[in-house]
Amino acid sequence: MRALTGSADVALEDDRVLGFAGLFVASTIHIATPLVNQLGCELADGPMGAFVKTDASKETTVPGVFACGDLALAAGSVAFASATVRSPESAPINR
Ligand SMILES: Cc1cc2nc3c(=O)[nH]c(=O)nc-3n(C[C@H](O)[C@H](O)[C@H](O)COP(=O)(O)OP(=O)(O)OC[C@H]3O[C@@H](n4cnc5c(N)ncnc54)[C@H](O)[C@@H]3O)c2cc1C
Repeated sequence: MRALTGSADVALEDDRVLGFAGLFVASTIHIATPLVNQLGCELADGPMGAFVKTDASKETTVPGVFACGDLALAAGSVAFASATVRSPESAPINR
């Protein structure tokens, strides 16, 4: 694919343009806050982008720093994000 044109037209490298009513795309994520780098938390690579590496208790590689939700998930959803805070393994977050 070379470019998206019009509302949902896909321009290919060979100059053909395929017109569609809409497109489903897999987006990627990026960490919005500089805090993660500032604290020195190690990152891991996920299918949708980088996320903060944590252990089972959601503690990051920086002792005493915990991460939960999308920030600490390879692929997020509301249910998974909530589960990272509510699971028994992540009880230390609630200290
Ligand atoms: C387009 C799209 C569609 C989606 N559709 C679905 C769906 O249909 N079903 C589903 O289950 N999930 C869906 N998701 C995923 C879902 O939205 C996330 O998994 C969920 O919102 C993660 O919750 P969270 O609290 O971890 O992060 P967020 O909802 O991203 O909340 C993080 C909050 O922290 C704030 N913040 C960031 N930095 C700072 C800072 N330095 N200081 C203070 N506040 C800060 C942000 O402003 C934000 O409000 C979708 C996501 C996207 C992008």
